Parts: sequence; C-alpha cells; structure tokens
Amino acid sequence: MYSDEFISEIKEKLNNEKKRIEEKIRELTDPEDHMDNPHWDETANDAIEDIEQEAYLRIYRELLDKIDIAMSKIQNNTYGICVECDKEIPKESLEREPWAEHCGKICSGKQS
Ligand SMILES: [Zn+2]
Repeated sequence: MYSDEFISEIKEKLNNEKKRIEEKIRELTDPEDHMDNPHWDETANDAIEDIEQEAYLRIYRELLDKIDIAMSKIQNNTYGICVECDKEIPKESLEREPWAEHCGKICSGKQS
C-alpha cells in the first residue's frame, strides 16, 4: 500500500500534467496561435504539418485518458495495481509516470 502522502503527491502531479496537456491540445487546435507563430509557414508542408499535428493530438489525448483513468483509480483505491499481474507498481515508476498501468517492462511488453 502507498502512503496517503504519496497518493496526494501523485494526485498533484496528475492534475498538473493534465493542465499542461490540455494547454498543449488547445495550442494545437487553436488556429489563431499559428498565425502568431513566426515558425509556422502556411505554404510549406501543410499536409505534413497536419499529420504531425494529428499525431501529437492523438498522443496527448491518450495521455489525458490515462491520467483520467489513474485519477479514478485513486478514487476507487485501486491505484498503482498492475493491470497485467495485479502486483503493486513500484513507487519510482509512478513518480516518473503517475499514469503507469504496468509494474514493469516485462508486463508492459506482454500488452496487446
Ligand atoms: Zn505486472
């Protein structure tokens, strides 16, 4: 079991990360921002940039989903349990990736 202190630390991290990602999604989906961005070249590689934008958006949205799942797990007291083998995920992994769902590389490798 994790300490309450650790859990509240994780909650804070998840909240901060969520805000940061939502901000990035807003930047990517708001066309106004691109106008102000001197690095944004409207004429060059439009298609490629669209694809890149799509890819980033997908990554960010997946991350948001994971964060939401982690938050609901905290509520249900099931946070930090590996989805694969039901073991506790090491604190160090959760500190690095608070949305981690696997206890380690071996387990995450088995996914899919
Ligand atoms: Zn596992």
